[in-house]
Amino acid sequence: MNKITNHLPTAELQALDAAHHMHPFTSDAALAKRGARVITAAKGVWLTDSEGNRIIDGMAGLWCVNVGYGREELAEAAARQIRELSYYNTFFMTTHVPAIALAAKLAQLAPGDLNHVFFASSGSEANDTNIRLVRRYWDIKGQPEKRVIIARRNGYHGSTMGGGSLGGMTYIHAAGGKIDGIEHIGQPHWWAEGGDMTPEEFGLMRARELEEKILELGVEKVAAFIGEPIQGAGGVIVPPSTYWPEIQRICDKYGILLIVDEVITGFGRTGNWFGSQTFGIKPHIMTIAKGLSSGYQPIGGSIVCDEIAHVVGSADDDFNHGYTYSGHPVAAAVALENLRIIEEDGVIDHVRDVAHPYLAERWHALADHPMVGETKLVGLMGALQLTPNKEKRAKFAAKPGTVGLRTRERCFRNNLVMRHVYDRMIISPPLVITPEEIDVLIARARLSLDEAYKQVREEGLWQEA
Ligand SMILES: *Cc1c(COP(=O)(O)O)cnc(C)c1O
Repeated sequence: MNKITNHLPTAELQALDAAHHMHPFTSDAALAKRGARVITAAKGVWLTDSEGNRIIDGMAGLWCVNVGYGREELAEAAARQIRELSYYNTFFMTTHVPAIALAAKLAQLAPGDLNHVFFASSGSEANDTNIRLVRRYWDIKGQPEKRVIIARRNGYHGSTMGGGSLGGMTYIHAAGGKIDGIEHIGQPHWWAEGGDMTPEEFGLMRARELEEKILELGVEKVAAFIGEPIQGAGGVIVPPSTYWPEIQRICDKYGILLIVDEVITGFGRTGNWFGSQTFGIKPHIMTIAKGLSSGYQPIGGSIVCDEIAHVVGSADDDFNHGYTYSGHPVAAAVALENLRIIEEDGVIDHVRDVAHPYLAERWHALADHPMVGETKLVGLMGALQLTPNKEKRAKFAAKPGTVGLRTRERCFRNNLVMRHVYDRMIISPPLVITPEEIDVLIARARLSLDEAYKQVREEGLWQEA
């Protein structure tokens, strides 16, 4: 076989890809029909594909490339660590400096008494760890029947069996099932489900479903609640202001552990180090991944409060759980350097003082577009709800996602990565995006919306459900 390099024609790469590479969340039949876009290089907020297109990445990869692509310091950190200690494990009473340094740094950055870190290689793995951690905690406390974890419909917590079960996406449950001991309540998605209530009333109502579920199951059965500060993969669903304070009150009242999944909202995305700070939440455990290394290395983890760490660590038996790559030295060294960049370059100040205000003005101005209903932006996480009738918050008559997909395809052709979740368009660009780059993003978004709108009308899709 010839060597496969960037220099092969795109069609040849696509054929090999379709023949041998099984993609996540993709139909391989669709891939065989139309090849995947081949990304060959990236720098800052810009991707290059095998056809030489320069694409602005409105999603920071998969919500993870917080400091932008191609940072020399991160390449250096990885090379240095590979030369010095390429791998060693953290099982069986051993450790190494990168894992120590990263854990200590995370303990310093995380709010409150979140002072202990259990490492994984992804957000999914970290949430699997959390299932064991909270159940183990209650076991040791002499309440082994406290096992149920309550989560939300349309939440996303990864796609391992544990993570996918915590998540509330029925299409993931349909792919091979769901583990037991996980219960779901409604999501705080006012636009789609709020009916005639005000957002504040609806936020309280949805939070109180947690209390109802606890009482229905019996508090002696419930171990924890898990939620994302803002649902990411669910469509950048920003909860009404009443939601999180009420969830916190209920967790406190019943002594339920609170796991906040910060995989997207961590490391500056919402304008603070953590989304919990933006929303005033006090978690017992935070799930982290993605922006922890800006996607340069696969690393995630659970940041755990003193109480849980002490109880789980106090038992005579081991906590029988861990991954070969827990605290991998190269991943840890890169994450540590990434955190140094975020801190020393003032990346979070840039989000708060420059990029967010500049983008917010232009993002919310898209609400004048005939197809755009709600516009949301927290830090650099945004959504545009597409609708055929803004007043009525109407859905399209076509299958959910039809219009969103049309719009995404226009973005794709206009060299903008903007995702759709059903008929909601979402962005989450690298945190280092400049005002000039925001202008390009907005211009391409508006052009794509205009083209999609025209196409939707021509195809007869401009109809309310
Ligand atoms: C992406 C994501 C995960 C899963 O992380 P992986 O690294 O893909 O396993 C978990 N929780 C949230 C909120 C995510 O966005």
